Amino acid sequence: MKDQTVDKSLLEASVMPDKNGFFGEFGGRFVPPVLEPLMQEITDAYEKIKDDPVFTEELHYLQKHYTGRPSPVFHAKSLSTQLGGAQIYLKREDLNHTGAHKINHCLGEALLAKKMGKKKIIAETGAGQHGVALATAAALLGLECDIYMGEVDIKKEYPNVVRMRILGAKVIPATHGLKTLKEAVDSAFQAYLADPVSQLYAIGSVVGPHPFPMMVRDFQSIIGKEAKEQFQELNGKLPDNLVACVGGGSNAMGLFSAFLQDENVKIHGVEPAGTSFKTGDHAATLTLGQPGMIHGFKCYLLQDEKGEPAPVNTVASGLDYPGVGPQHSYLKDINRVNYETISDKEAIDAFFQLSRNEGIIPALESAHAVAQAIKMAPGLPKDETILVNLSGRGDKDIDYVVEKYGKDYGL
Ligand SMILES: *Cc1c(COP(=O)(O)O)cnc(C)c1O
Repeated sequence: MKDQTVDKSLLEASVMPDKNGFFGEFGGRFVPPVLEPLMQEITDAYEKIKDDPVFTEELHYLQKHYTGRPSPVFHAKSLSTQLGGAQIYLKREDLNHTGAHKINHCLGEALLAKKMGKKKIIAETGAGQHGVALATAAALLGLECDIYMGEVDIKKEYPNVVRMRILGAKVIPATHGLKTLKEAVDSAFQAYLADPVSQLYAIGSVVGPHPFPMMVRDFQSIIGKEAKEQFQELNGKLPDNLVACVGGGSNAMGLFSAFLQDENVKIHGVEPAGTSFKTGDHAATLTLGQPGMIHGFKCYLLQDEKGEPAPVNTVASGLDYPGVGPQHSYLKDINRVNYETISDKEAIDAFFQLSRNEGIIPALESAHAVAQAIKMAPGLPKDETILVNLSGRGDKDIDYVVEKYGKDYGL
């Protein structure tokens, strides 16, 4: 593992990104000219509203009384004892209403849409998790909601399609190309362009053109702010290590952002190694990608020979993205965060180990972070600590896990 030396002049986390949305060379806003003023409108509205006490109070009220924040920090004693090394703590985002961290930015984006006078929020969804969280926020705040989803994903993730419909959202199939996430993004952008006045596009992670990587990070930063206070209250010091899984990177940025300047805190981002490191078998973007362009921004990108986004694969569909947030790309280059990989098999092992030692069934995405902690803990002293962001609960994954891996675990 590389040593993490914190160069504060490179970080300046509070002022990042610059006014054009760049984190170093990454990020920015590479969109067709018609989209440019629309993205600027969202940026201006967000900049105006983010420190407005009426907006922040309303958001805070919903976080507390609707989502159920603050989510607890829990010492996983039994798991730590079994591993015989560092103490593992869990930030319990799985206990949020709707079962994951995504509700944090969806409430923020929906509230912003409302303040901007929009009638409808639209988005793409892959596995359906972002779609469900956004449909939830839309139902709560009285907004219409259109979710674009690949036809293949609609069949694969049917329970989430039903959830979205029950919540009053319209699920619109993307029927071209491979009929999965990328096509859903295409369709959603087209629909957005057709009527940008009455709709707001609500991106599902710290990706896309400026201002989304900044805005989604800010809405998720409540995770790190709470965790920092809670951990200090429990232990009288900061955690020695942070661990979070990285798909687009929103739950990780949410936790990391509060600690970037704390040079004694080592930070670990976890990417899915899938079944192998062959192209198409994993989604380890920061580990194996090269700088490139996707969905209107620059980041590390898994690419095929032509420089097009490569196919990706992992057991955790929420981590299945060939790009990654621009701030993560930057944090890798300045060596502030170590990005590591966990295979499908290691994630499934961790899924069962956490379930059986602590009575907590993690989402398969979160199981990647748990697996990294399980890997690290035995080699560390007993008084060292690891704070894991448990980004979501695993109820959505149980059928798949039992069908595909049940036999290996006595089921
Ligand atoms: C969507 C999702 C992720 C991955 O998204 P990030 O933007 O990388 O956080 C991780 N965990 C859960 C539970 C998810 O639903």
